[in-house]
Amino acid sequence: MDFQNLLDDIAGTVAASPPRGEVAAYIPQLGAVNPDQFGIAVVTGEGEVFSAGDANVPFSIQSISKVFALALVLATDGDGVWQRVFREPSGNPFNSLVQLEQEAGIPRNPFINAGALVVTDRLLSVTGDAAGTVLDLMRQESGNPGVGVDPVVAESEHLHSSRNASLAYFLASCGNLENPVPDVLDNYIRQCSLAMSCVDLALASRFLASNGVRVDGTALLSSSQTKRINAVMLTCGTYDAAGEFAYRVGLPGKSGVGGGIVAVVPNNLTVVVWSPGLGRSGNSVSGLNALDEFTTRTGLSIF
Ligand code: GLU
Repeated sequence: MDFQNLLDDIAGTVAASPPRGEVAAYIPQLGAVNPDQFGIAVVTGEGEVFSAGDANVPFSIQSISKVFALALVLATDGDGVWQRVFREPSGNPFNSLVQLEQEAGIPRNPFINAGALVVTDRLLSVTGDAAGTVLDLMRQESGNPGVGVDPVVAESEHLHSSRNASLAYFLASCGNLENPVPDVLDNYIRQCSLAMSCVDLALASRFLASNGVRVDGTALLSSSQTKRINAVMLTCGTYDAAGEFAYRVGLPGKSGVGGGIVAVVPNNLTVVVWSPGLGRSGNSVSGLNALDEFTTRTGLSIF
């Protein structure tokens, strides 16, 4: 299927239509990003790449990194992490402290901040360098050795990490962290601060659309593990708007407050959008509109 005309069309119409939402300002460096950017990229199972707009501009992947950290923990350490984190939608903001206390330090899912801190903690225990392991995977799968941590974003996030530090210390108080809080936070912040383009991310996510098979033909995950990660993305990947995302897009997806969204058509392709303006729940407004348009016009959804 030739997606180029469709992507050009989407970039020209959906991306240009207001309203575009607000850039995340609680990490000041993200607030400095020009909101008038929009990119979209598709990578097919055969490895064909289609893109439009600002699809080659690197942006801060933020929470999208949580999918890759989870994949690496399941790949290297099996199912043990599910003793420490649930798999249910939170229905609450991604950085809620209240829910974590009510549920005695077991985060609702691996994609809210508390759950991702647990996953990163486990990856740190298993590998000794959680963020470096995520970075290596990103470089290998995207084929782009230039992928790296944006030091300015990382510094900005460190300086404004009180909420995540609170979540991490609360997890530690419940016995749900294995490593010192500063080490877990540092790895978590570095993985969130990776800078990648839509094309990089669409390439790096291919294993989610190919039953866990990496670009070199080896298996990162089994088909069953891949199915499970896609299922958690569908139910928990877009904050407390996962229902709306499933309704409009109909695909497993994971968003980040940098304005990126990775979506997966299982056994078929990956599609990544980016536009920095966010809606109330933290998902890119133009990105969501573009994915809605993409699945509506192609009929490519899991439903
Ligand atoms: N690094 C961000 C935070 O911890 C990630 C949030 C997100 O993208 O959802 O708040």
